[in-house]
Amino acid sequence: MDVVVIGAGVVGLSAALMAQGRGLSVTVIDRAGPAAGASAGNAGAFAFTDILPLASPGIMKKAPGWLLDPLGPLSVPPAYALKIAPWLWRFWRACAPGAVAASTDAQTGLMDLSKAELEPFLAATGTAGMLFKRGNLQVYEGEAEFRASIPGWQARARHGIDFRHMGPEEMAEVQPGLSPRFTHGTFTPGWYSIADPKLYVLALADRFRAAGGVLRLGEVLAVQAKERGARVLLAGGEAVEAGKVVLSAGAFSHRIARTLGERIPLETERGYNTTLPADAFDLRMQVTFGGHGFVISRLTTGIRVGGAVELGGLDLPPNFKRSEAMLHKAKAFLPGLRTEGGVQWMGFRPSLPDSLPAIGPSRASRDIIHAFGHGHLGLTQSAGTARIVADLLTGAAPPIDLSPFNPHRF
Ligand SMILES: Cc1cc2nc3c(=O)[nH]c(=O)nc-3n(C[C@H](O)[C@H](O)[C@H](O)COP(=O)(O)OP(=O)(O)OC[C@H]3O[C@@H](n4cnc5c(N)ncnc54)[C@H](O)[C@@H]3O)c2cc1C
Repeated sequence: MDVVVIGAGVVGLSAALMAQGRGLSVTVIDRAGPAAGASAGNAGAFAFTDILPLASPGIMKKAPGWLLDPLGPLSVPPAYALKIAPWLWRFWRACAPGAVAASTDAQTGLMDLSKAELEPFLAATGTAGMLFKRGNLQVYEGEAEFRASIPGWQARARHGIDFRHMGPEEMAEVQPGLSPRFTHGTFTPGWYSIADPKLYVLALADRFRAAGGVLRLGEVLAVQAKERGARVLLAGGEAVEAGKVVLSAGAFSHRIARTLGERIPLETERGYNTTLPADAFDLRMQVTFGGHGFVISRLTTGIRVGGAVELGGLDLPPNFKRSEAMLHKAKAFLPGLRTEGGVQWMGFRPSLPDSLPAIGPSRASRDIIHAFGHGHLGLTQSAGTARIVADLLTGAAPPIDLSPFNPHRF
C-alpha cells in the first residue's frame, strides 16, 4: 500500500484525492466514516480573504469584553481554564506585531495557493457545481466599530485583497432585511462558498472510492515510524503497513502525533451553530457579524447561523445554549429571520496558537506527513493543503515555503 491517510474530513479526503491523482494507491482510515468531524457542520465558506490571524492585537482588545458574557463570542469554561493556559500563552505571544506580520504573509501564500487549486480540484472531482461565488458582507454597528476595522482592511489591501466599503443604502440593496443598527459594511467578492460542507465531503469520498481508493473504518491508536514507511496501529490490534502516512485527524491529530514522540500544541476552538430550513431568510450572501463572532450562511440545505469560540477541549459536553444565544442575536439582526425548525451542532476546530496549520513531515520520519490544525479555515485551505501533501508524498517541491507551517515550530 502506498499511502494511508488518517482522517476522512475535508483535509484528509482532499489530500487522498490529490495523491490518487498522482498515481498513488491510497487508503483512508476514519473511526466514524467520512465527514464525521468539523468538516460536516461548518459554515461552508472558502474565506480566501481571511488572511489575518485570529492571534492579533485586535482580538486582545476585544477578548476581555467578550469573556464577560458566558454565552458570548469567546469563552473558556472554568473546567478547562488551567488546561488551556499554555496554549493561551503561545497565542498571546503570537499576537506580537512582528509575529502577526509573518503569519499574515504565510497565510496569504497558503490562501493564494488554495484559491488557485480549488477550481481545478472541484472540476477533477466532479464537484464544480457545488461552488457559489456570492461573496461576504461584514457588517458594523456604528462608526466606531467600522473605524476600528480599517487597519485590518489596509493590511488586506496590501496583500491584494479586493473589497468595497458600503453605507446603509448599498447594504440594503445587496442584502435586504438587515437591522438598521448596522450602519457600515464591507463586501469581499473573493469569498466563495460550498453548497453544503457535509455533502461536499461525502461527494469527495464517493469520488475517491470510484477511482479505486479504499475508505475503511478504524480507530487509529498509534503510528510507528519504520526504517522505510510506517505502521498504523488500530484499535482491535490490527497493524496496517504503509509506504507513507498522512496524519489529518483534525482536532485529534496531536494525540496520534504524541505516539510518534511529538508534542504539538494543538487545541480545539469549539464552535456552534443552528441550521434552519432553507426558506428561513432570503440570504443573498454570507453575512459576518464580526463584533459578535458569528456568521449566517446560505447552504443549499438550509440557512446556517453560527460561529463562536469555546476553548473547552475535546471531552466536555457541548453547551447548546451557545447555539441558542447566536440564533437569538441573529433574529435581532435580521428581523425577518424565521428561527423555528433548526438543528443544532457543535464542532471541534483544530487550532494551533498562531492560527497557521501544521503541514510538513513528522520528526520521526519523512514518510509521515502532518496536515492538520487549520482552525477556522480547514475547508478554505483544503485544496492548497492537499496540493502540498501530494508534493511531499511524491518528492516534488511544494509551491510555497513551508517553514511557517512547520509542525515543530513551537
Ligand atoms: C462552527 C464552525 C464553523 C466553521 N466554518 C468554516 C468555514 O466557513 N470555512 C472553513 O474553511 N472552515 C470552517 N470551519 C473550520 C473547519 O470546519 C475545520 O478547519 C475543518 O473541517 C478541519 O478539517 P479536518 O479534515 O482537518 O478535520 P475533521 O473534519 O474534524 O476530520 C477529522 C477526521 O478524523 C477522524 N479521526 C479523529 N481521530 C481519529 C482516530 N484516532 N482514528 C481514526 N479517525 C480519527 C474523525 O472521525 C474525523 O472524521 C468551521 C468550524 C466550525 C466548528
